[in-house]
Amino acid sequence: MRAMVLEKAGEALRSVERPDPTPEPHQLLIEVCACAVCRTDLHVVDGDLTHPKLPLVPGHEIVGRVLEVGRGVQGDFEVGQRVGVPWLGFTCGVCSYCRSGQENLCDAARFTGYQIDGGFATHTVADARYCFAIPDRYDDVHAAPLLCAGLIGYRALKAAGEARSIGIYGFGAAAHIVAQICHHQGRTTYAFTRDGDTAAQDFARQLGCTWAGSSLEAPPVPLDAGLVFAPIGELVPQGLRALRKGGTLVLGGIHMSTIPAMPYEILWGERVVRSIANLTRQDGAEFMALAAQVPLEIHCERFALDEANAALDRLRSGQLTGAAVLIPS
Ligand SMILES: [Zn+2]
Ligand SMILES: [Zn+2]
Repeated sequence: MRAMVLEKAGEALRSVERPDPTPEPHQLLIEVCACAVCRTDLHVVDGDLTHPKLPLVPGHEIVGRVLEVGRGVQGDFEVGQRVGVPWLGFTCGVCSYCRSGQENLCDAARFTGYQIDGGFATHTVADARYCFAIPDRYDDVHAAPLLCAGLIGYRALKAAGEARSIGIYGFGAAAHIVAQICHHQGRTTYAFTRDGDTAAQDFARQLGCTWAGSSLEAPPVPLDAGLVFAPIGELVPQGLRALRKGGTLVLGGIHMSTIPAMPYEILWGERVVRSIANLTRQDGAEFMALAAQVPLEIHCERFALDEANAALDRLRSGQLTGAAVLIPS
């Protein structure tokens, strides 16, 4: 197999030849067809997320085909079947979080492309208990961003409850999917981008957002909720200022720059700030069922596997429209 490997945080990935992995009990051996690039991959490569397994194959939005089924794999995974591998790669199953529907918070959880080798490769292995079937309506490339951008967007939206008007901060891969789900559900969306990023604002309007502007601007009406996908702490006070009383600001990223001090009055009025972390398998099942119904228009920029560093650079500099997807062959 060939893989793009992180040897040390802060360095470029290196293309490496390795022997093909063998599936352990509960694992599938998977031929990778496409792997999307997530902002979390960037945080791992840049060292914002500490203590990754090293050397590491990043990538946790994997679409592949089953080549071999390990011992003890239950369910309907068969050789040749298409399968999706997400960020959540293992949970203990016995802690209080795991037993109360919050396996996303399990202290012993392990994550694909962080503690487990991921999908920036031609082949990978994954624990079948954490893999998903993928709706047929999406081809491999367009299905890949569903595995994290779509899923995390969905979990963030669930945290916003019944909100009808929703601000979305950072109009990248997650935002462009969650906006379409919002519109399908009859909610209105307001897209906030970097000041002057008219390309992202045009993209948001094209996808049906009611309003698009700079995150420094106030929306035309106070909003029921805000979803923050950009890793920028300044967006927390800005997002709170855009909320009506009782509104909720949901932070969807795994890493964020320091949140600046802010006056209590922008939080007062029962406004809520909360984060979301990781995903549960229940989120995956719900979101894939939704994605099977709603014809999501997934915008992708394709890169060869060897171009993983270029894809990360484009994401880092905010030059992507939609999601970057690596294609091994
Ligand atoms: Zn647990
Ligand atoms: Zn991700």
